[in-house]
Amino acid sequence: MTRVSPPDLQSFLTDLDMSVHAANDWGTPANYIPELACIAPDQFAISVALPDGQVLSAGCHDQPFSIQSVSKVFTLACVLGRIGDELWDRVGREPSGTSFDSIVLLEREQGRPRNPFINAGALVTTDALLDGRMPADALAEVLGFIRTAAGDTNIHIDGDVATSEKVTGHRNTALAYYLASHKNLHNPPNSTLETYFHQCAIAMNTDQLARAGTVLARFQNAPRLLSSERARRINALMMTCGHYDGSGDFAFRVGLPGKSGVGGGILIIAPGKASIAVWSPGLNNYGNSKVGTEAAHRLAQFTGWSVFAG
Ligand code: GLU
Repeated sequence: MTRVSPPDLQSFLTDLDMSVHAANDWGTPANYIPELACIAPDQFAISVALPDGQVLSAGCHDQPFSIQSVSKVFTLACVLGRIGDELWDRVGREPSGTSFDSIVLLEREQGRPRNPFINAGALVTTDALLDGRMPADALAEVLGFIRTAAGDTNIHIDGDVATSEKVTGHRNTALAYYLASHKNLHNPPNSTLETYFHQCAIAMNTDQLARAGTVLARFQNAPRLLSSERARRINALMMTCGHYDGSGDFAFRVGLPGKSGVGGGILIIAPGKASIAVWSPGLNNYGNSKVGTEAAHRLAQFTGWSVFAG
């Protein structure tokens, strides 16, 4: 991987922020969650956390956004810490090649979701986190993990976003009951859904998210919340499954593990080099941030960071 100096990287990020604002198609914010549908799409932020503790940023990097499915990375880390490989009895580790909320595959594979990042797999992972506790206790664990990873206690759940998704989340509700019919939920479906909707509604800005990702980038001074083996495996899942059926394209263009969310955020890990958070709320056809994906591609080209490069 190429070395890039922080001043050069900062001026690249500043230019990137200016040039993305020339875009005439920002994509469309997630329209099935009313609280997200009304967010102006022409917004952009990027933050890059470096091993020496610096965070370089451009755009509206201090504006909180809904991390949505990016939260699934942190829930997975908590669950692997609690029950380890037992999780894989209930969820697979293969890309799905279908949309994030698909029910078709679940029916074909008898209630064992393909991976922990599609919604069905995330519901099972959240169910494992819940483990008979009250939703508030499970949520406190994942929020505690994120706050420690980011070194910032000022990270919260946006209750309006959680309620908004709960009211309109018919597909996730269907997935949860379908999983329950296959005995792959151990808690009442409504408790698992409640926990899932609130976990997805965690709000962070790109500086906070980039800092939280340092535990996956394995920086020397990052909080020791994960073993290096576990970080490696989570990164592998982010690479193969982190962008739903756009995962292959993201790997091809960016070459780094990434996890997107329908709030328009993406967490990208360059192991040992950087933890990157990018946000732009308009989505492409895969349900991933349109301008965020393009910015990640340009950052990877500029830095030469890629897990496929020597
Ligand atoms: N809360 C969203 C849902 O379940 C998360 C999807 C995503 O961010 O990709 O539909």
